[in-house]
Formats: sequence, structure tokens, C-alpha cells
Amino acid sequence: MGYQLSKQNFGEVLGKLGETYRLFAPVLKKGEGRFKDTDVVRYDFVTNPDEIELEKKSDYAFKEFMLPISETLFFFTEDQVKEADIDEKDVLVFLRSCDMHAVKRLDYIYLENGKEQDWFYKRLREKVKFVLIGCADTFEDCFCVDMGSNRTEDGYVFSVDVIDGEFCCDVPDADMAKVFAECEAVEMEVTPRFVTENEVHVDIPESIPIGIYGSDVWDEYSARCVNCGRCNIVCPTCTCYTMQDVFYTDNGKVGERRRVAASCMIDGYTNVAGGGQYRRTNGERMRFKVLHKIQDFKSRAGFNMCVGCGRCDMVCPEYISFSACINKVADAVRKEADDE
Ligand code: SF4
Ligand code: SF4
Repeated sequence: MGYQLSKQNFGEVLGKLGETYRLFAPVLKKGEGRFKDTDVVRYDFVTNPDEIELEKKSDYAFKEFMLPISETLFFFTEDQVKEADIDEKDVLVFLRSCDMHAVKRLDYIYLENGKEQDWFYKRLREKVKFVLIGCADTFEDCFCVDMGSNRTEDGYVFSVDVIDGEFCCDVPDADMAKVFAECEAVEMEVTPRFVTENEVHVDIPESIPIGIYGSDVWDEYSARCVNCGRCNIVCPTCTCYTMQDVFYTDNGKVGERRRVAASCMIDGYTNVAGGGQYRRTNGERMRFKVLHKIQDFKSRAGFNMCVGCGRCDMVCPEYISFSACINKVADAVRKEADDE
């Protein structure tokens, strides 16, 4: 079932949905970008269509709801532990096709990778339903077509595309369709828009030989990368975290445990007891990140971790391109095969 409706009527739909759900969507934050007088698009809770950024790609990913940068898991005293409360209201998360594919990666890591599911992730994940934002055109840096994440056919409760000022929504969810029907929406066939061509292409080798670990491909990143970790923070599929116990100052035995986002690109990530560190150079860290995204994860999960959103390229202060690095790896693999 599909609907077309005016912005005002779409606002009515969101108003009705707001009685049951919190709405988490990309928002244009004016003047809050990295440099003076620059903007940024990041996620926040919204109440009406004017607040939602449907044209630009978000600089940060939707994952901040399911995997907050810092999340208090529980509070402790000397002899008691209490889980942190969460808002019980369900959440509608607005996101694009590549990010819908990223959800599958997050679910795999936190719910399917190992014997136990991550309880704290699961309790947030169970609250979430998704609204698909269609893509009329490719954005700079996207390579979703080559990663197979440009199109989403299920998993969303409704989609939204703004065409000539009208809101066009595919609404597969029967409960949502009732809400649309109450808001003067006109029934029509709607297919969410998706891109079929990007400017950026990647050539992921079918198999990457072990020799790539010693390749000089990684050397330039030791010089260029400043290990700020931004690429990990914006990535919709990066899932690593560390734990922090925060002790309250008035009673040093009482406090809270927090899960805090971690980054494989920063100093200290691979530190081990005795002063050891597995990956000391930024080139080695780049090697780990890239091969994890296009090889190691796939060997376990059956699909690549990277979804080709291009956010890591957008955010890097050193203009390091992840897609260019993939293609350098492909060249190095071909050269190694030719030399044999
Ligand atoms: S954003 Fe760029 S400079 Fe920062 S850690 Fe990632 S690759 Fe290195
Ligand atoms: S590695 Fe870069 S392009 Fe791939 S999913 Fe993460 S942020 Fe997007």
C-alpha cells in the first residue's frame, strides 16, 4: 500500500505517531559543524517534518540510538547492582538504504556473533522500527551500488520520498497504513527511490592473500593518518566499545559502569598487559580496519561489513579515502598475482 500526501498531512501522520513513538531522524544542525560557520547533519529526536533533513546525507549514523557514544549500563553500590532505566517508548528511526543494510551488521555482531546475545543492545533494538528515506541521487563519496546496499525492499514500516513537494510513502505495515489513511493521504503505488549508479567505484578482490599484510600499501597511512578515530565514530557498522567504571567522589565504592565507543584507529586500542601493543603504526591500524570491513568479517558472517556509505571519507581531516584504499588493495593483490 502506498500514499501521497501534503507536507501538512505528513506532519499530521508524524503527530499521531508521536503519541506512540519517539521519532529519531537526521537533523541539520546549523553552525555546529567542524569548522566555524559550517553545518552538520546528525541524529536527534524530532516532532515534525520541518525538523527532518531529507535532502542531505547525514554526517553521523543512526546507530547513536542503539549504540550511544556513552551508555550507562548499570549502577553499583558495595553490595547491589541496578540496571540503568531506559525510556520505554518505542522509536521510529529514519534512515537511508545503506543504513538499513548496516542494521543487519549491527544485529549480527550483537545478537548472532557468539553464544550470548548482548542484552543491553537487545533491549534498545527491540524498541526500534525503521522508516526508509529514499535516495533520489547518489551523494559524493557513496559506493553503495558496488557494496549492494543501494536498495532495500523490506524491514521498514514506511518509506518517504519528497517529489515535487509531495510526500510519497510506501507503507507495508498495516498499523501504519491506518494512520496514513486517517490523514487524508491519497492511495497510490509507491516504490522508494534508490540509486543505481555512484560516482565512486570499488573493486573488492574475491580473495585477499596473506601477503597483503606486509604490503607497502599501508605505509602512506602511517604518515597521513592522525589516529583521531573519527572514521570509526561516524561509521554505521563500527561496533567496538570499551568499559568505564565511574566512581562517585562522595563514596568511592559507589558508581556506574558505562559502555563507551572505542576506535581501532586510536592509540591504546590494542594495548595489552606488560606494555604490549599489537598495532603500533597508523598504517597497521588502517590495515586492520580495511581488511576487517572487506574480508575478515565476511569470512565469518558471509557478507561484507562495509556498506559503502562514504561517511568515513567525508569526516577524515586528512582526506583519507576508504574507497581509494580498497582499490589500492585490489591493485596490490593483482600485482602480487602477476609477480607469482
Ligand atoms: S578519520 Fe582519517 S585521520 Fe582520523 S583515524 Fe580515520 S583515517 Fe585516520
Ligand atoms: S567503512 Fe566507511 S564507507 Fe564503509 S560503512 Fe563504514 S563509514 Fe561507511
